[in-house]
Amino acid sequence: MATVNRRRVLSGVAGGLGLALVAPSRGLDRTRADVIVAGGGLAGLTAALNLLDAGLSVIVLEASARPGGRIHTAYQLPGQPELGAVEVGPLYARVRDMARRLDLPLEPRGNPVGAFSLGIGGQLVNMEDWPESPLNQTVGDERVVPPPALLQTVITQHNPLLRADDWLRPEARPLDISVHDWLVAQGLSDEGLRLVNEGLITADFNDTSILPSLQDGLRMGLARTAAGSRPSGGVDKFTGGTSRLTTAMVEMLGDRLRVDQRVRAIAMNEAGVEITCESGAVFRSDFVIAAMPFPALRRIAVTPALTGIQADAVANMRWANTSQVFLRHRAGDYWERDGFAPSLWTDGPVNLYRQQVDSDRIVAVLVGRKADALDQLSPAEQGAFVVNDLVALRPELRGKVDAVATHSWREEVNIGGCRHDFRPGTVTRFVPAMFAPHARMHFAGEHTRLLEIGMESAMESGERAALEIVSGQPQEPIRTS
Ligand SMILES: Cc1cc2nc3c(=O)[nH]c(=O)nc-3n(C[C@H](O)[C@H](O)[C@H](O)COP(=O)(O)OP(=O)(O)OC[C@H]3O[C@@H](n4cnc5c(N)ncnc54)[C@H](O)[C@@H]3O)c2cc1C
Repeated sequence: MATVNRRRVLSGVAGGLGLALVAPSRGLDRTRADVIVAGGGLAGLTAALNLLDAGLSVIVLEASARPGGRIHTAYQLPGQPELGAVEVGPLYARVRDMARRLDLPLEPRGNPVGAFSLGIGGQLVNMEDWPESPLNQTVGDERVVPPPALLQTVITQHNPLLRADDWLRPEARPLDISVHDWLVAQGLSDEGLRLVNEGLITADFNDTSILPSLQDGLRMGLARTAAGSRPSGGVDKFTGGTSRLTTAMVEMLGDRLRVDQRVRAIAMNEAGVEITCESGAVFRSDFVIAAMPFPALRRIAVTPALTGIQADAVANMRWANTSQVFLRHRAGDYWERDGFAPSLWTDGPVNLYRQQVDSDRIVAVLVGRKADALDQLSPAEQGAFVVNDLVALRPELRGKVDAVATHSWREEVNIGGCRHDFRPGTVTRFVPAMFAPHARMHFAGEHTRLLEIGMESAMESGERAALEIVSGQPQEPIRTS
């Protein structure tokens, strides 16, 4: 076990990230450190900086050539779109604090895609016409709610959770049921149910737990309250792209971060940890943090092997998918000619068409099973499929729109999807066990979130894993049983 000067490290962590303390790694043993972090996404980078600040030596091994994981500003594409995270919520204390410390400006997110119309059954309808539209087959009070807002509206009206940690308490277990069953219990109509399922990021609402959505919903409500009347609802973005955040964190780490080092084996014993990469490089440490999604972790040979519920979670937890097709058009302000809003939400094979304000760019977004279906096609076929779908909805674009690039989070071999997805019953079953420390191994990543969401949850988890190591204690801020 590493001998850690607890007074020194605990004062470092308690004081937060004193980034000025992080100096270049002169004299660092290039293959040995107190802690090796496997995974250079936001969670791994946060863990590494916390550990450095606590006085430990760290090496971060990143499988790909590009650190940052699901933070990826596509600087090479027109308009430099974000493939992953963009929104910085009003309650994102860690992300905002890191931005301030790294001197990275934030700006209001604004509305980059203008207004939305709806595409229902292949026909367009404007939002203001939705309540009275014959395309609207929902009933009662549901009729005034736009389909993309249905799930969140029902959650806001009927959310039994009151505090951000309620979802992990024993009393919440009866809520670890499918999205479908919970919505039926709230009285949503069959058409309301269908529309919710069409927009769901996970595979199917019969096979997805409502419990994380209730926590997300509660968290969003708290964020709205905290934002008050701030512009964009208090939601900001990084000026110049979200990748500026991870790039600046990587710069802090210097040569402690090694790219193109995909971990394939982690062996632990009394003496320490030995980590072998596909490159053949071998690294040694006292502790390891696995800061990658489970689809990536399950390909790593871990000795001693994970057991019980933890092994079940790593092997079987599902990841959702998001795929995007980037389009350019030569049709000017075509939405003014067809009379609908620039952007579309549809119940067809493409979930969203986001017309970027003041530009010739449209981003087609597909989630869940729709994204998985698209991924079955070649990139050229994907482009043609999306263009045909869009032109059928908006004939003004016929012959004037082309696909320029595609991206799928499922196809990112080191990640395997856009976000974790709990099946019914698995919040209750997996969360208490799935990221408990195992031998010398600790776990980080947005899927190990407790209170936060998105980027903030990745930072929360990295901080927790670092604190587990420096304190020698598993961090259990919440009683889950
Ligand atoms: C489409 C999309 C939109 C999003 N929008 C938002 C948003 O607006 N706001 C928000 O807050 N959040 C958003 N998020 C979520 C946010 O991006 C994630 O929560 C966060 O970036 C996850 O960070 P992570 O470190 O947990 O995981 P990741 O970013 O997935 O990092 C894991 C890293 O581990 C590496 N790795 C994998 N296997 C190995 C191995 N064997 N050896 C070494 N390295 C390995 C990977 O290459 C990767 O770099 C979005 C995500 C997506 C996909």
